[in-house]
Amino acid sequence: MAQLETEIRYLKGIGEKKAQAFHKLGVFTLYDLVSFFPRRYEDRSVYRSIALTQNGESVCIRALVADTPRLSRIRRGLDLVRFRAVDESGMVEITYFNQSYRKDNIHKGESYVFYGKIEVSGSRRSMVNPVCEREGVQGGVTGRIVPVYRLVSGLTQNNVIQSVRQGLNECGEQIPEILPEPVRRQEQLCPARYAYENVHFPADFNALEIARRRLVFEELFVLSCALGKIRGERVREQGIQLREVEVQEFYDTLPFSPTGAQRRAVEEALHDMDSGSVMNRLVQGDVGSGKTLVAAALIWAAWKNGLCSAFMAPTEILAQQHTATLNGFLAPFGIRIGKLTGSSTAKEKREIKAALKSGELDLIIGTHALFSEDVEYGNLGLVITDEQHRFGVGQRSALIGKGQRPHVLVMSATPIPRTLALILYGDLDVSIIDELPPGRQKVDTFAVNESYRDRLNGFIRKLASEGRQIFVVCPMVEENEDLPIPLKSAEEHARELSEAFPELRVACVHGRMKAKEKDAVMSAFLSGETDVLVSTTVIEVGVDVPNAALMVVENAERFGLSQLHQLRGRVGRGSHKSWCILVSDSDGEDVRARLDILCRTNDGFKVAEEDLRLRGPGDFFGSRQSGLPEMHAADLGADTQVLQRAQQAALSLLAADPELETPEHRLLRDHVDRLFRANADSFN
Ligand code: ADP
Ligand code: MG
Repeated sequence: MAQLETEIRYLKGIGEKKAQAFHKLGVFTLYDLVSFFPRRYEDRSVYRSIALTQNGESVCIRALVADTPRLSRIRRGLDLVRFRAVDESGMVEITYFNQSYRKDNIHKGESYVFYGKIEVSGSRRSMVNPVCEREGVQGGVTGRIVPVYRLVSGLTQNNVIQSVRQGLNECGEQIPEILPEPVRRQEQLCPARYAYENVHFPADFNALEIARRRLVFEELFVLSCALGKIRGERVREQGIQLREVEVQEFYDTLPFSPTGAQRRAVEEALHDMDSGSVMNRLVQGDVGSGKTLVAAALIWAAWKNGLCSAFMAPTEILAQQHTATLNGFLAPFGIRIGKLTGSSTAKEKREIKAALKSGELDLIIGTHALFSEDVEYGNLGLVITDEQHRFGVGQRSALIGKGQRPHVLVMSATPIPRTLALILYGDLDVSIIDELPPGRQKVDTFAVNESYRDRLNGFIRKLASEGRQIFVVCPMVEENEDLPIPLKSAEEHARELSEAFPELRVACVHGRMKAKEKDAVMSAFLSGETDVLVSTTVIEVGVDVPNAALMVVENAERFGLSQLHQLRGRVGRGSHKSWCILVSDSDGEDVRARLDILCRTNDGFKVAEEDLRLRGPGDFFGSRQSGLPEMHAADLGADTQVLQRAQQAALSLLAADPELETPEHRLLRDHVDRLFRANADSFN
């Protein structure tokens, strides 16, 4: 008899070819197969009267074939089979293209069930290539709610349906009940067996809902247990305990007053650091919300406790900028600051490393070089990483390994809807800076098409003549890309702009340049030596050019909303009125709707929420390396309430049994471990 771990080859109708197609879908075993949930469903459970069907509807009808199906060859490679079918209410014309076998399978005078899209024109009704089944066939593909699966070439819906049916028949009884009984009772969730059966072959929509609710809960519950377990282990991990400091002392030296949100983030982090456990906190804040100040306050607190801090930036330029900014905040206290990047000279590196080892530095700022193997820290207490999405979690832990379990603060400028931050960064505690410093100007945003080009060029000329600088961003062009709309490559566009503006200094920076070259171009722009910088998204992260007042994004339809918001955040950082122009010739309604959101709001969290709503979580998360395991049942955008319940249930379960050691949690632990194994990269 088949087991859940049996390979799908075992099933009837699955040969080598089909098995390989299934493998592409991540389906190897029968367990994988029954866990391969439908993408959507078609309601073929209700039969409709022909006369009552409406144009464009997908319907199931029961009808008698009224004449002998006729085959006609239109030309080579195109033939069709036509006939009429009737019920008590009316008549429908049915046509099959290139399915000549239908001529012999469908017989005049017999009854069939047809499922497909109805076209109505005048009083004439027709259907093209409908699903067809003899009436009364059991377990067929009409007369009920039919699942629709994701496919790859080599597989048909029927292949999957029949395989899943076999899989469930063979080992549906063996599907383990991994939800602990009390949780299942409290949440009123159906048994596993019922859920798996009805998510594939629902008896009715009610049963489907019950099944889905359980599976979504289960998936989010296992994920929450996994994340909760990591977090629990971290909490029990002892950290350097800081003495309490009076942070107002630091605030008093600032030229401005920190916002409430900044103070709250600092307080939360300080609370972590004097708790005795190690801090793992994410500070999430929109561009310009002042995350650097939060970092500075914590570095100051660490220094007050005699501890050294390390600050990691994703690029040389950013390391440089942060050095300047942090110097401004911290040097007045006599805090000793060093910088270590790939371009430091051998001598500089040697000196910095020696100083770090002997504890002569209080803050080191740098790039990846900070965690190269031969850097040793004397008294590392705090690690801060900026713009986290550029760092793998693995890289983070490489640096963490350097100290005596230093506290870790991660700063991210990619807003994520509140409900999801917990899951995405489940191994971190989260502080959100949801307030901008007062007096911040809104960046006026417009979405335009090609017809606006001359005016746009005029605008660029005008701003440049006033001494402002301009960013122009083009999408990355992959080679061999087959594109419906022509894309501007950065280099090409830079050439065009230099021709259009002979009086301006136009530079170009793109992803294929060497780091050194990129930095040189960026530095020239920073110091005002160039007027217009054309680039791919390499400038996305926090570069600060206060004199830049215009951001132009070409082929804006190619960017995610959050990414566009990030880009827009590159301007409006000084005292100058700033603009963002999104150029797109795409007339798709969805594109317009998306760009419109940016024109309406400057709030990154709102942008993220709308983005999530419009695109669905798959794309939303796909666009950043989230490290989030792929969800089979749950829709993270829509299932937030279940998510909250699952998180709560997971937390109380872990409170009682942190390691999931008791026998009744053994299966659950297996599943949690399995999730860890499958996603080793993101969790480690
Ligand atoms: P981001 O969160 O994008 O990294 P920064 O830390 O670069 O933002 O801060 C953006 C600008 O706002 C900086 O010039 C900083 O000095 C300034 N700033 C930060 N906090 C405040 C505040 N509370 N009041 C006024 N200006 C502030
Ligand atoms: Mg920043």
